[in-house]
Amino acid sequence: KTSVKSDIEIAQSSTLKPIKEIADKLQLNEEDLEYYGKYKAKITYEKINQLKTKDDGKLFLVTSINPTPAGEGKSTVTIGLGDALSKLGHKTVIALREPSLGPTMGLKGGATGGGYAQVLPMEDINLHFTGDFHALTAANNAISALLDNHIHQGNALQIDPRRIVWKRAVDLNDRALRKVVVGLGGPGQGVPREDGFDITVASEMMAVLCLAKDLEDLKQRIANMVVAYNYDKNPITVGDLGIAGAITLLLKDALKPNLVQTIEHTPAIVHGGPFANIAHGCNSIMATKTALKLADYVVTEAGFGADLGAEKFLDIKSRMAGLKPDGVVIVATIRALKMHGGMKKEDLHQESVEALKAGLQNLHKHVDTIRQYGLPFVVAINRFLSDTEMEIAELKHWCAAQNIPVSLTEVWGKGGKGGIDLANKLLKTIEEKENNFQPLYPLELSIVEKIRTVVQKVYGGKDVEFSSQAFKQIEEFERFGWSNLPVCIAKTQYSLSDDPLKVGRPTDFIIHVRELKAKLGAGFIVALTGDVLTMPGLPKKPAAFQMDVDENGNAVGLF
Ligand code: ADP
Repeated sequence: KTSVKSDIEIAQSSTLKPIKEIADKLQLNEEDLEYYGKYKAKITYEKINQLKTKDDGKLFLVTSINPTPAGEGKSTVTIGLGDALSKLGHKTVIALREPSLGPTMGLKGGATGGGYAQVLPMEDINLHFTGDFHALTAANNAISALLDNHIHQGNALQIDPRRIVWKRAVDLNDRALRKVVVGLGGPGQGVPREDGFDITVASEMMAVLCLAKDLEDLKQRIANMVVAYNYDKNPITVGDLGIAGAITLLLKDALKPNLVQTIEHTPAIVHGGPFANIAHGCNSIMATKTALKLADYVVTEAGFGADLGAEKFLDIKSRMAGLKPDGVVIVATIRALKMHGGMKKEDLHQESVEALKAGLQNLHKHVDTIRQYGLPFVVAINRFLSDTEMEIAELKHWCAAQNIPVSLTEVWGKGGKGGIDLANKLLKTIEEKENNFQPLYPLELSIVEKIRTVVQKVYGGKDVEFSSQAFKQIEEFERFGWSNLPVCIAKTQYSLSDDPLKVGRPTDFIIHVRELKAKLGAGFIVALTGDVLTMPGLPKKPAAFQMDVDENGNAVGLF
């Protein structure tokens, strides 16, 4: 209907270079790569080991305000910033998450950037890519199969079928699978019990892949995962089932980072992909660390707003991996700010400086949050065609008045060229500003205090309330000696509170924790708040309705 090209049209009219040429830029040789077709390769463990003695490059984290359902363009800005740094002559690697088929077929569309800031081949990356998620799904479900078989074959570990916490997984939005009963049909079909499915990107399997430092660490984490409790209410792990080796074997290739390229041929490592609302939200430690060894600048992204992805990046991933980000980019869009100012989604294309002004408080909170972590930052306005000059001027003016560095970013429309100003401002900011990064809470705090700290300091809430079930679980976890782990709070991405309808910068709210989950393989305690679900559903008009494939196997309508 307009002359604006879709993401896939731009992607399909771009020329890719053979992946070997991209690898050359990073001094990666033939023997360092395992090819998955012409344009994708995994980096070998041998190479990753060799790199260990090299110095790290600088690390930039891209985060955002609370997003609209369509996303704020974090991936787009991450890619565009990477291209801009490359254009300025810096050796740069972009480190992104792999997309999940759930949102791809559902609401949100792909996760390979947009416009002229994309990673390619976008069809492959958005669909099956190098098979990592399928391997994770298989590994996850192998644990379920072996666990059910253990019970069927005599249940030597005395697993209580009513206390199995390990769920099956599939990487789709499939609400019908949230709660299922398995083992029906008589003694030949196993032991009947209640089960359920999580989306793969919310599974602990995904988290362990992303937090593992190497294969040995992955095996140890897998062994540590709690799958059930026995009749004495003591935890049973994958290690107890005797299958940690087999499960790790299923992931031996999935753990290797994937190398691809942007439209402008900047190297990108796309690996691992937990959601940030219901999981920890960052690409793999293997990918980020490898990128830091290969490049002078690494640009990475953490999912959803700074209340979710960035908090988890800084309190969980950075702590586990010993990372220290050098600078942060906070992406904001004028349309999302107007939504935070009370404007309806349908009206966001209309100019409203008033709504924009009212919505700026949401940005302000996220700026405060990043300041609390002691990190230098720049706000990136991801420019949309519907943004008016008046609105842009107002946002710039407000940032100047608050002493907030800001850059109008046009990477969607112009690629790396549209991100040069952002890159320059970021480089200048990290030169000039002190970096006093530290995580928000010490691990020694109690589980309750850790959650309260995040609620008060990051969400800006008044306090946290626990259900009686959650309280009982906390007591239990403390008894098992699990209270020194970081917390991973599952919360809606749309609001700082646990109520998606409270936009802007709500205050005086209470966060409701209904249930906790001990993820000992990942090494964190999950707290589920509000109504957040670990298996999403599909919307009335799923994105799948637009998709097709032509007779030559080319994807159509993948955004
Ligand atoms: P996020 O990473 O915040 O979820 P993405 O970068 O994936 O967001 O972008 C979400 C969608 O919005 C993509 O389809 C992308 O093409 C589109 N998009 C991003 N930035 C712009 C922009 N400035 N103008 C128009 N569309 C954009």
